[in-house]
Amino acid sequence: MSTIGDGTRAVRAGLPEPQQYEPTLPGPVFAAHFHLSGEPVGPYTYGRETNPTWTHLEKAIGELEAPGEEVVTTVFASGMAAISAVLFSQTRAGDVVVLPSDGYQALPLVREQLEAYGVEVRTAPTGGDAQLAALEGAKLLWIETPSNPGLDVCDVRKLVEAAHANGTLVAVDNTLATPIGQRPLDLGADFAVASDTKGMTGHGDILLGHVTCRDADLAAGVRRWRKVVGAIPGPMEAWLAHRSLATLQLRIERQCATALTLAEALTKRSEVTGLRYPGLPSDPSYPVAVRQMRRFGSVVSFELADRETAERFLEALRLVDDATSFGGLRSTAERRGRWGGDAVSEGFVRFSVGAEDPEDLLADVAQALDSATR
Ligand code: PLP
Repeated sequence: MSTIGDGTRAVRAGLPEPQQYEPTLPGPVFAAHFHLSGEPVGPYTYGRETNPTWTHLEKAIGELEAPGEEVVTTVFASGMAAISAVLFSQTRAGDVVVLPSDGYQALPLVREQLEAYGVEVRTAPTGGDAQLAALEGAKLLWIETPSNPGLDVCDVRKLVEAAHANGTLVAVDNTLATPIGQRPLDLGADFAVASDTKGMTGHGDILLGHVTCRDADLAAGVRRWRKVVGAIPGPMEAWLAHRSLATLQLRIERQCATALTLAEALTKRSEVTGLRYPGLPSDPSYPVAVRQMRRFGSVVSFELADRETAERFLEALRLVDDATSFGGLRSTAERRGRWGGDAVSEGFVRFSVGAEDPEDLLADVAQALDSATR
């Protein structure tokens, strides 16, 4: 159903037809193997290949990624498992892959591995659609928009058009936006990929990832890769993820609204520089973001004077955990430079806005800024 609202879709996504005396969402199926006589075919044979709990979740994610369309979703044990499945199933020695130079900090590890297998990797920044200039002869373009942690946005339609004209496949890491905020397949991408560890599941208690495609052959390559490397989610995690999707719209709506309010409040603080939020009309990402995103994400990034100020700020927050990751119901923030993998200043803070009452969160941030910069 493509005509219903996001909230309605989220609460019903992937549910099986009602059956007398059965639960609305069937419980997790814990099975390494299934009864199987005769020819080894059928929906459920061995637990590394398929599982009924994944089937429900994959259907749910597919409905969110591409309402009303026939798509194939494959769930994975983590976002990195999903990312690796696309990159390693689609490329061979001698192929060229274009990655963002400012994407998730594990991408350089993927780059090293691709290069070790003879794949040429080019990189360019997300902002200004700079990846366009690196497309010549590429097999696959990898986009991450908004980028993590810099929150730059690229024009997905424009990049897809140029890539497809060049015979290049396009994958979009949609972790930050979730399908509630942006639908990569609608924008023309071949693969919508995400770490569902973040906003998709939103409780900070499971790792998961997914890949959704329209093209059955591309999907088959991704599913085959999962079977080969065994990067499968546990049934309990898959079930918890499906349960969490019911509140996806509620959570994301609230978190994005508060993120915008926080970003607006931060524009008035002189200690804060380099503020980024794609939904802020003054943000450099805004003109493109507003054309392709329906909600702008729960992450706000900014800089404080130096490492010490950022550390004092994080220490002074009472309602916000100093922790990595993002997209969860409980606000988290971290000094991103502590990891060493991102091109950010020592005082750079990545702030993930949760579902707290906005006035409480804003008051907490204001007092923490006061105390850090006193
Ligand atoms: N993609 C993005 C944009 C991320 O931020 C992350 C993790 O932070 C990942 C992928 C990797 O996901 P996971 O930690 O679930 O493997």
